[in-house]
Amino acid sequence: MRHARTVEPGPVSLLAAILEGTADLSGAPCIGRPELFDARRPDEDADDTAFRHRAAVRLCHRCTAFTRCRDWASTADLDESVVAGRIPDPPIHGKPGHPPNKVSRF
Ligand code: SF4
Repeated sequence: MRHARTVEPGPVSLLAAILEGTADLSGAPCIGRPELFDARRPDEDADDTAFRHRAAVRLCHRCTAFTRCRDWASTADLDESVVAGRIPDPPIHGKPGHPPNKVSRF
């Protein structure tokens, strides 16, 4: 019996699920690497997050799917995960109504 695959929450996992099985986008280096790309964990030191996010960006810049990913990301509401070589802006706390971070730097 086959079981449906579950997808972890977060845009990188969603992107990975979208990219998996797509002939010219498969093999993206973010697939299976949430430890580099995911948003800062509540208990994580900010310097550790910055370090792993810089490593994720280096992988993005070697990714053959970069252009398509960037195009997709430019229309998506993203959290503080690394997507398409973008290091997310830190969240602004205490500002009600602050819009989600958008991809704006390429
Ligand atoms: S550009 Fe980065 S986030 Fe986008 S598919 Fe490639 S590795 Fe993943």
